[in-house]
Amino acid sequence: MARVHNFSAGPSALPEPVLREIADEMLEYPGAGMSVLEMSHRSAAYSDIIQDAEATLRRLLGIPDTYRVLFLQGGATLQFAGIPMNLMRTGRAGYLVTGLFSRLAAEEARRYGEVEVLASSEATGHDRIPDLAPVSERCAAGDLDYVYICQNNTIYGTQFHELPRTGAVPLVADVSSCLLMEPIDVARYGLLYAGAQKNAGVAGATVVIVREDLIGDAPTCPLTPSYMSYRRQADAHSMMNTPNTFGIYACGKVFRWVEREGGIAALERRNREKAAILYGLLDASHVFIPHAQPASRSIANVTFRCATPELDEAFIAGARERGIEGVRAHRSTGGMRASIYNAVTLDAVRALADWMEEFEDAHPEAACR
Ligand SMILES: *Cc1c(COP(=O)(O)O)cnc(C)c1O
Repeated sequence: MARVHNFSAGPSALPEPVLREIADEMLEYPGAGMSVLEMSHRSAAYSDIIQDAEATLRRLLGIPDTYRVLFLQGGATLQFAGIPMNLMRTGRAGYLVTGLFSRLAAEEARRYGEVEVLASSEATGHDRIPDLAPVSERCAAGDLDYVYICQNNTIYGTQFHELPRTGAVPLVADVSSCLLMEPIDVARYGLLYAGAQKNAGVAGATVVIVREDLIGDAPTCPLTPSYMSYRRQADAHSMMNTPNTFGIYACGKVFRWVEREGGIAALERRNREKAAILYGLLDASHVFIPHAQPASRSIANVTFRCATPELDEAFIAGARERGIEGVRAHRSTGGMRASIYNAVTLDAVRALADWMEEFEDAHPEAACR
């Protein structure tokens, strides 16, 4: 069977050259005489692998020397707890709730301290990024340990196109579904992190980039497991215990691929082109209804639906017949979602767009607006 066009939200498509390289090296990693899956994490070969992954990521993102890069396990979800455990020094943080993952992060943080919801898009079904001016005003009081955002809302298809101005309050961002899709200024953040299985690599590897002065001993949380201490992990270079050796290796391969493709700015151009094709179609459509408000649209996840669930099902079934997989949206929204991460090609997006146009022509009666 041929490879399909994979629009899955995560784990998601990987660049084909990366998969080939991993396959080529599976039995014998060059010079090591064994698979990376069999290799000691303390070996010289593996030390090169993890150091190269970090160095490549630093080059790609221009990470300042004052930031540490950690490769942890437990996905983005474990960092919902890791962040308050490490960063809630006085016990109060501000959260922007713009979807399911930021709501879950806020709920988890409530177990460790006081959480203040500074803005929410819940009232409008998370179809936009809320007004950020009140966030700046609230930050001026200077009593928040950090402000938390989910920069790209994977489920709802919205994205922060500008960051809240938090002044001296560190900004913490979940960038699980947008890391490496467009250039960012790392210095704007106190901490940013990503479960790697969307844009950066494979499941089980989590990248945390944290400003050195924020790494402490989690004083408000004495029962923090030592694994969860950013200080312990930074001191041990992510090797306090056996790390996800294969996951970090795969992330390193993806980072190198991004670099070969011309870096993040080159990928951004391609990503914007892919998004413009789908949003252009949605805006002109009489069958498809886009979910996200235009000013808040994500370049990573395009969310839409038809006028009826029956039409949604027909669209998804027809997509599958055409080798287009993963367009069913998250169960909490219904409808469709096309995740068009870095590894999803322009050709794949064109195949999806062709099917959308064909579907549209086949349903002249389905006028929804
Ligand atoms: C997928 C996702 C998560 C959850 O990631 P896990 O690694 O499964 O814990 C959290 N935040 C965002 C933005 C996501 O896209």
